Amino acid sequence: MNPIFAQTATSVFETMSRLARQFDAVNLGQGFPDDPGPQDVRQKAADAVMTGWNQYPPMMGIPELRQSIARHYKRFHQLDLDWENEVMVTSGATEALAGALLALIEPGDEVVLFQPMYDAYLPLVKRAGGIPRFVTLRPPHWRIDEEQLRAVFNKKTRVVLLNNPLNPTGSVFLREDLDLLARYVVEHDCIVVCDEVWEHVLFDDIEHTPLLTLPSLRNRVVKIGSAGKIFSLTGWKVGFVCAAPEILRVVAKAHQYVTFTTPPNLQAAVAYGLDKDDGYFVGSRRDFQAARDRFAAGLEKLGLSVLPSSATYFLNVDLTKGRFAGMTDNAFSIRLVEEARVASIPVSAFYAEESVTSVVRFCFAKKFETLDEALKRLDAFMARA
Ligand code: PMP
Ligand code: GLN
Repeated sequence: MNPIFAQTATSVFETMSRLARQFDAVNLGQGFPDDPGPQDVRQKAADAVMTGWNQYPPMMGIPELRQSIARHYKRFHQLDLDWENEVMVTSGATEALAGALLALIEPGDEVVLFQPMYDAYLPLVKRAGGIPRFVTLRPPHWRIDEEQLRAVFNKKTRVVLLNNPLNPTGSVFLREDLDLLARYVVEHDCIVVCDEVWEHVLFDDIEHTPLLTLPSLRNRVVKIGSAGKIFSLTGWKVGFVCAAPEILRVVAKAHQYVTFTTPPNLQAAVAYGLDKDDGYFVGSRRDFQAARDRFAAGLEKLGLSVLPSSATYFLNVDLTKGRFAGMTDNAFSIRLVEEARVASIPVSAFYAEESVTSVVRFCFAKKFETLDEALKRLDAFMARA
C-alpha cells in the first residue's frame, strides 16, 4: 500500500469530532456553523432536484454557475475572468486542491508550503511526488518572513501552496506579504495554488486581496474557492477553480479523472447564491463577527489569552500566557474535551516540523447559546482545574 496514506493518521477534525461525541462535548473543533444556511439557496437546490437535470452535467461545470462565478469576482474584486476558459467547478475545494496539485507537480519538484497548513495539503503534495519545503509562520501575527523565503526558494521550486485567509490562524496576509511572495514566485517562475475558501468570512472591514488580482501573478495563480464556506453549507462540496486558460486546461484534465463532475442541482443553487445582493454577504460577516466578539470576550473573562482573529470561523487561544503555560496544545485539547466537555483543535496538528505547540483553535461559528454553554463549561472546568 502507498505509505503516504498507510502511515497517515486519521484527520484531527474527525478525531476531535469523535471525542466530542464520546464525551458529549460542545463541538467547537471541526469547523462548521450550526446555522442551516440561507433558506433561498437551499430551496433552489431542492427545486433543482425535483424539476431539474439529474444526469451528468458538463465536465467543467454548468454554464450558469461558471458565468455566475465570473460575475461574482467581477463584482467583488474587479477581476475579469473568461468563464469559458478560466473557470471550472469542482466537488469542493478539496477536489480542486487535489486536481491542481496532481496537474502541476512533476515528481521531484519542490513545493513551498506555509505552516500551519490545512491538513490535506501535505499528503496531496507528497502523493503528487512533490518535495515539501516549509515556511513557518508564528503567532501572534503569522507574517511571512523573507529570510525563510530566501532559504526555501531555489531552481527546483515549481509550485507554491498558499491559504489566504488562513485556517487555522484566522489571519489575513497583508498586501506587503503578498507582494513579497509574488516577487519570489516570478523570479523562480512558479505557479501558486491559492486556497481562498475563506474569502468572504472576514471581519473588522478587512479586505481580501485575491492573489490572482496581482498583475504580476495573473497568469501564475490557481485560485480556489468553496461555496461551502460562502453559504455556510460545508457539506455541499461545491468548489471552483479560476486560472489562466493554459493552466486551467491542465487542471481540468486531472479533474476529469478524479470526480469528472459535481451534482448539478447544487451547482444551480450556488449559481443563484453567488448573485445574491451585497446585503447577504455583509449580514453574514456581521453575524460571524458578533459570535467571534462574544466568544472572545467570554474566553478573556476566564483569563485565557485570545489571539487576534480577522477571518474564518476560528479564534485561537495562546497557552503561553496564563495558568496553562507549559501545557501543550494536545494535552490541553484532550483535557478540555474529557473534563470540560468542550472540543477544540490543537494547532500543532497543522505543522509538519518545528511545531508551534501552544495554540488551541476554537470554532465560534455557532449560535450564542452554544457558545455560552461552552463558556459555562470552561468556567466550571477552570474552577476545578
Ligand atoms: N481549504 C481550507 C483552508 C479549508 O479550511 C477547507 C474546509 N474547511 C477546505 C479547503 C475544504 O473545502 P471544501 O469543503 O470545499 O472541500
Ligand atoms: N475545514 C474544516 C476545519 O478546518 C474541517 C474540514 C474537515 O473536517 N476535513 O475545521
